[in-house]
Amino acid sequence: MQYLAEIEQIIEEKRDQFIALSDTIWECAETRFEEFRSAELLCEALEREGFTVERGVGGIETAFIGSYGSGKPVIAFLGEYDALSGLSQQAGLAEKQPIVRGGNGHGCGHNLLGTGALAAAVALRHYLERHHIAGTVRYYGCPGEEGGSGKTFMARERLFDDIDCCLTWHPGIDNTVTTETSLANYQVYYKFKGVSSHAAASPHLGRSALDAVELMNVGVNYLREHIIPEARMHYAITDAGGISPNVVQAEASVLYLIRAPKIAQVEEIYQRVCNVARGAALMTETQVEIVFDKACSNLVPNHVLENVMYRNFTALGTPTYDDVERELATRIRASLSDAERNNVEDRAIREMALSERVRPLQSEYVPASMGGSTDVGDVSWITPTIQCTTACWVVGTPAHTWQVVTIGATSIGHKGMLHAGKVMVATAVEALEHPAIIAQAQAELRDRLSGGAYVCPIPPGVKPSALK
Ligand SMILES: [Zn+2]
Repeated sequence: MQYLAEIEQIIEEKRDQFIALSDTIWECAETRFEEFRSAELLCEALEREGFTVERGVGGIETAFIGSYGSGKPVIAFLGEYDALSGLSQQAGLAEKQPIVRGGNGHGCGHNLLGTGALAAAVALRHYLERHHIAGTVRYYGCPGEEGGSGKTFMARERLFDDIDCCLTWHPGIDNTVTTETSLANYQVYYKFKGVSSHAAASPHLGRSALDAVELMNVGVNYLREHIIPEARMHYAITDAGGISPNVVQAEASVLYLIRAPKIAQVEEIYQRVCNVARGAALMTETQVEIVFDKACSNLVPNHVLENVMYRNFTALGTPTYDDVERELATRIRASLSDAERNNVEDRAIREMALSERVRPLQSEYVPASMGGSTDVGDVSWITPTIQCTTACWVVGTPAHTWQVVTIGATSIGHKGMLHAGKVMVATAVEALEHPAIIAQAQAELRDRLSGGAYVCPIPPGVKPSALK
């Protein structure tokens, strides 16, 4: 593992550039499919390193691919850079303090994610050049992960088809090789149309779309008992038909997110939710329009790559922290509730402010253990895909909180980001130097799919949508 020192040196030499890039994206805090500045900053950083960049791939303005080198194998890194609405927060504080009230914030750490993956791509590009190794390094700029499934749209356009293996990461509370499995999902609008009327003078002439939404939700809440326990159904009323109680609401919409361990299970539950919606429309004499918004597939794990990444991760160790960082982490930890702190199942880190271990590799896959979904799932059906997390957040911090935003532009977040870059590139170098690893990883993927091929769960014609 002589390459480790060289990889660390390549990333450390460019440390300040990567940190500045991540911090600028943190400041931009652009939400899904509107990450114009963030995407451009990443594209320019790749071009400065000699990558050829194709912008606007797959018909998505903020999606791009940076390439360096030529021929096989093709090693890809996935980067994200979208923020979340309503999570504006100042950096490095242990209390909630928005920069702009109601503004956007990087509440999932994707400023670190996109830059850490870029650091890995840049380091691999230099390593290939120095050692005259054949192959292609790609960086996929993947927009709209948060509620947008950008990668799934990119997969529909077959942008990942010729990759030999793929690496990515996510900021987290611990240093792990990801063995958690995610939930597949569909996101669908149910838009009801009725007839407006004076709610007191002529209610009998009105047909309420809002009633239909409410009845649909009641119906789905009854359906809950009769679906598999691992499935999840959540909804948001995106249009309640206005703010006047004296008007029978003629239009109302509800957005559903339906999740289950396997995409086929999601499809089955979705059909039943559609029947509930049609039933609500029948009851209220309204019409329902079903508008498919997006979907993503469940993650397909890869033991071969997990073992390679774990070997490299344990050899690299974890970031270390100084007293100032520990003190900040302790204060942020104090801002978490007991319930949040106790939500950490792993006793080895539960009482800590910052994890300084690499979690032992989990040998068994627990269905839906990630608890959420990721569009990395779609890529993992197409090519062997591996992910890690590094400790960028205080132990117990839930994703999508101000505590994630505040730490995302501090030296704690930066250290986790650069470390993730090193772990990914080390894994890629080992795979490149031992082609059998890639062949075995691909054989494992074929095996796990048992002859099945990837089918994009987003129907043709559905377009990515920005936050409305
Ligand atoms: Zn995320």
